[in-house]
Amino acid sequence: MIKFKNFIEAEAHDYFELIRMLYPQFVSEKDIEIINSPGKTIFLSQDLNQVCHLPEDIDLQERRWRIKSYILNSLDIKEKMPSKFGILTGVRPIKLIIDLLDKMPPDQVLDYLKNYYSIEDLMAEFLLSIALKEKSYFESVDPKGYSVYIHIPFCPSRCTYCSYPIIKSSNKDLLKTYVDTLLKELESYRDLSKKPTSIYIGGGTPTSIGVDQLERILKTTRRIFGQGMEFTVEAGRPDTLTEAVFSCLKSHDVQRISINPQTMQDKTLSRLNRKHSINDFLRAYDLANQFDFSINVDLILGLPGESSLEMMDSLGRVINLDPDNITVHTLSLKNGSRLFQEQEYFSISEVISKVIDDAYQELVSKGYNPYYMYRQKRTLGNGFNAGYSKEGKESLYNMLMMDEQQSILGFGMSSSSKFYYPESNRLEKVLQYKNLRDYQEHWQDKNLLKRTFMEDFKW
Ligand code: SF4
Repeated sequence: MIKFKNFIEAEAHDYFELIRMLYPQFVSEKDIEIINSPGKTIFLSQDLNQVCHLPEDIDLQERRWRIKSYILNSLDIKEKMPSKFGILTGVRPIKLIIDLLDKMPPDQVLDYLKNYYSIEDLMAEFLLSIALKEKSYFESVDPKGYSVYIHIPFCPSRCTYCSYPIIKSSNKDLLKTYVDTLLKELESYRDLSKKPTSIYIGGGTPTSIGVDQLERILKTTRRIFGQGMEFTVEAGRPDTLTEAVFSCLKSHDVQRISINPQTMQDKTLSRLNRKHSINDFLRAYDLANQFDFSINVDLILGLPGESSLEMMDSLGRVINLDPDNITVHTLSLKNGSRLFQEQEYFSISEVISKVIDDAYQELVSKGYNPYYMYRQKRTLGNGFNAGYSKEGKESLYNMLMMDEQQSILGFGMSSSSKFYYPESNRLEKVLQYKNLRDYQEHWQDKNLLKRTFMEDFKW
């Protein structure tokens, strides 16, 4: 238990996130007691014996900065996790930096990241380089346009580290019910006159639903939305990829796919409950190359039981395949996972932190530059997920969606639609139902809501 006294309630979330980043042993709100009575002296720590004094007449922004800096630099609790991000919390650091770039030149932004947020030098440069790259892409995109996301929540089996709501693709009845509903939802947008900037079909594993159902979705999508500047399908699990699947994707003008082994170590794959081998991945990768797709390969650092040598070996083997994009995730832990319970977290985190740096150096030296990134809660080593790309092969959808620079029209169970108002930098969200029955019976409710926001745009 960690206690705080004399906080202003509205500040609590901000500090909670920072504490959780630096001291992940405090995993839930129950571990942090906030004794709330606004005052000038802030008490922290397990027995309230550490004190952060604040000067008189301090404004709210300065108060926040001083308290967060105190938590980062002075609060003394056992087992503190290093963080390259200083006091910066939040999932989308690049979005914040893009906003800063609208107010000041890049060299001042760099100083601000280092001095105000206490971000480490290399990390500040890494983040700024991504923000500048994204900004240059966004100049050619209509900020009042939209992109399309279609969600397919089916997978052949559940990976042990997965926390998404998924349905087994072997359940053919549910699959047909789902696709029938999804097509109705898509059809209800056939009146749109403006075509999307990009289209992304993700999951789950969209390619696990069989060629017939995939064909129905692609045909409807193409008829209603065209193909945009880029059309991507997350192929995901190699065991779902056949010549018939690739032919189907190609015949509907899909240009980009993602094939995700997550590791190049067979023994790890079987531990993860993924029903494919490295040879299956290599076979699927070769086949995809014959169809001339632009390919992304996903890897995860920190999978259970892997040494840093094995992680770097996986990365090296993927680089040797020469895909256009490589996305490097860091394992994010679920509440109550074994790693947390057994307190292995801290020793592993240091190893992972070093591997993340090594992976970055290796990728850059081989011509892959980072072009988007995001953070998740409770990642090993306070890591992050980053997409690396060969020059000019970046995924526009990933940048637009991750840094919320254009509206996204989402379709399917659990999809999220976002309406972006560039003049005011405002974002409105509509979340579709998260279980199949509600989605099937009530999807129109959410569509009505989406339509009310769509009236503000000329689509
Ligand atoms: S493939 Fe992805 S969505 Fe499917 S179970 Fe594995 S982690 Fe979850």
